[in-house]
Amino acid sequence: MRRRFSERPLKVELRGRMTEQTSRTELSALGEFGLIDRIASRVQLQNASSIKGIGDDAAVIDPQGLHHVVTTDMLVEGVHFDLGYVPLKHLGYKAVVVNLSDVYAMNATPKQITVAIALSNRFPVEAVDELYEGIQLACTHYGVDLVGGDTCSSPSGLVISVTAIGSAAMEDIVYRSGAKDNDLLLVSGDLGGAYMGLQVLEREKAVFKETGAQPDLVGHDYILERQLKPEARKDIVGLLRTLGVKPTSMIDVSDGLASEALHLAHNSGLGVRIYDEKMPIDPSTYQTARDFNLDPTTCALNGGEDYELLFTIAQADYEKIKANPSLTVIGHMTDKASGCLLVDKQGGLHELRAQGWDAFLRK
Ligand code: ADP
Ligand code: MG
Repeated sequence: MRRRFSERPLKVELRGRMTEQTSRTELSALGEFGLIDRIASRVQLQNASSIKGIGDDAAVIDPQGLHHVVTTDMLVEGVHFDLGYVPLKHLGYKAVVVNLSDVYAMNATPKQITVAIALSNRFPVEAVDELYEGIQLACTHYGVDLVGGDTCSSPSGLVISVTAIGSAAMEDIVYRSGAKDNDLLLVSGDLGGAYMGLQVLEREKAVFKETGAQPDLVGHDYILERQLKPEARKDIVGLLRTLGVKPTSMIDVSDGLASEALHLAHNSGLGVRIYDEKMPIDPSTYQTARDFNLDPTTCALNGGEDYELLFTIAQADYEKIKANPSLTVIGHMTDKASGCLLVDKQGGLHELRAQGWDAFLRK
């Protein structure tokens, strides 16, 4: 199930610093309250737990006898995204998805989000509309309600901060710290694609800057979608529930497999072993890495932004998950003294390190 949400083809066009609008309405024409009204008018609450949404001093949420999980992620222009090639609608979608991914990684169900944005006057109302179209699309797709936020001005760039609120029964919540020695380590989907998508976009941006040529993205649909329109693995949380498997620990892959596996090991007071030959890498990710003279394994280990779920299960649960194509056993937990290791294809052992994504080993 590789293409999960590709009914809309992804159109990437390189532009100057931001989206060119066909018409341009200055934000000052609407004002802050006008803008909030415009956003609120497009929101329809769908969850019974959303008692009061946008429009008062605070939203009201009914915990419905469950526990809340709350998480925030902020995206800053120039640090996390480049509007030279990221369409605003995709940015809005991704800003929501990265937060929902954290909620799913707690084995909880996201129900509400709030969105805070800082905007400079270089953004017209139409740009905000585009951004919120993406936010709304994610809300609809994942069944969450936009219940509030904040709007302020920024001297230049765009900042978007999303808070997601989810709920779960206390006994269902999964922490990073629950793994046990000998538990199996699994990952959903495949790894390294989002990073390779970013490499293609950066390369084409450099060409565009030099020659003005529009990007040649043919054949890169999958990795571009992984970068520009990632999905949170709601389906995996549901699947595990259906299979009757409760992970012992779980985390989502935002900073790269190596970094996340180290988090699980450290938080659980254990060591971990990951097998290179087990690493799920899509053929297009693999080929693009080769074309860029990068080691595909290194991209999978350190690329990040995959938003897959990395989790551990008891060995006794192996039979329940083994036939599933969306899940790959990539290793197992060990005692702490055995360390955190990558086992290469020849059986050689390497210390697992969380490398920054600009510190890639070239081959
Ligand atoms: P306050 O001054 O009390 O912070 P605001 O005027 O900022 O109130 O917000 C009014 C209402 O609009 C609140 O319900 C708030 O959550 C909501 N809101 C403000 N900005 C946004 C936004 N960018 N997106 C969604 N809701 C927003
Ligand atoms: Mg406010």
